Amino acid sequence: MKDSNHQTRTPGRTLWRLAGIRCLERGQDRGAGRLPKGNKSITTFWLPRLLVAVLPVVAPAAWAEKFTIAVIPDTQTYTIYDAYMPGFTRQMQYIATNKGPRNIVFVSHLGDVVNDGGRIPAEWPRALGAMDLLRDSGIPFGVAIGNHDYDNDSAPVNGTTYWSQYFGPDSPYFQGKSWYHGYSNNVTDSYQIFHAAGRDFLHLVLELEPSADSLQWANQVIQAHPGMPTIVSIHQYLTYAGNRSGNNYRGGSTGLQVWNNLISPNTQIFMVLCGHSFSGSEGEVNHTTLDAAGKPVYEELTDYQGTVDGWMRLMEFDSALQQINFTTYSPLLDAWATDATSQFQVNFDWNNRFGPAPSGMVSLDSPLLSNGCFSVLLVGAAGQKCDLLASTNLADWVTVATVTNTNGSACYRETSPAGSPRRYYRARLLQ
Ligand SMILES: [Zn+2]
Repeated sequence: MKDSNHQTRTPGRTLWRLAGIRCLERGQDRGAGRLPKGNKSITTFWLPRLLVAVLPVVAPAAWAEKFTIAVIPDTQTYTIYDAYMPGFTRQMQYIATNKGPRNIVFVSHLGDVVNDGGRIPAEWPRALGAMDLLRDSGIPFGVAIGNHDYDNDSAPVNGTTYWSQYFGPDSPYFQGKSWYHGYSNNVTDSYQIFHAAGRDFLHLVLELEPSADSLQWANQVIQAHPGMPTIVSIHQYLTYAGNRSGNNYRGGSTGLQVWNNLISPNTQIFMVLCGHSFSGSEGEVNHTTLDAAGKPVYEELTDYQGTVDGWMRLMEFDSALQQINFTTYSPLLDAWATDATSQFQVNFDWNNRFGPAPSGMVSLDSPLLSNGCFSVLLVGAAGQKCDLLASTNLADWVTVATVTNTNGSACYRETSPAGSPRRYYRARLLQ
């Protein structure tokens, strides 16, 4: 077990640190009737949230932040029966609950949302019930189409009637969302932009076995966002054995063709996420492959469809330590999988890869207490806009205002007492 999640933040400008983490062996009891997830050793985290070093005011000289991207592997098995759904539902509840504490900024669903496409329509409402929890969290997300999500889910798969309605560009999940930025003509490709650690990130969702048109569209999106750190999610890309996937479902691009025609030539793509392939109860592959420019691309297969235990992947980006910490967690079991393919780190020198975070960070001056209300002064370049988040315990954060800095500083005053002697703020730059 690595104590990987709990590092002090930016040297000299510590935001906070969590300590007091204990790990206890939980054993192998996963509940009656549940399918096992390989031979994993299970460890349960207790997070007493002892705050060791706190500053009431966040004043980063350079933006440094831990943030998390949650990855939802194939959920198809959960949707077969109501009795299997808690594994799916608990994932979404966990993400919503931990949006603040883990600073979850984005969620990628890797596809095969349901098991039987258009053949068993009753599976869709089950899946949507879980996805609604994610929607309500307000966290940006993308969903890749899997082979089981097509109307006809037997090879050759075809038809996107259900998909279009639920996850296409007209989906209530995406319509009007500021982070949902576009789609191709085939309703199964899309892209999102989310913000973390002072940067914009591009997330590209590709259809199953992308067509030439799909890859051309993806290349155009990248050309329209040059240099933006990019993650690609695609249902089928690697096999559980670590090979590039074939194209048996639609006759589109193979994994190798996706690599050659999109990933490798575009060095701003630093990560590819995929599901679909497993052996026994799971599929886990972590490959680092150098692209045409000699830069590393982290290729991650995650698939636990052989269980209904609710396993999911969390990727914690630590911009201060230049690392990505991968962990695998089941909210249903409240258990962490700690074997080497479920918990690992990769180095990610994004200053070298993408340059330093954009300049013009916001700094905050001391909040003043008056009449039980707090006020906070934001200092930065004129024209900056940021979300101001507040917390009384450094665990639960709420956005209290969107502040525009019109002339170099902006004062925000809370209009009601916080009900706490301490108030912590952080500012998230929007543009
Ligand atoms: Zn699949």
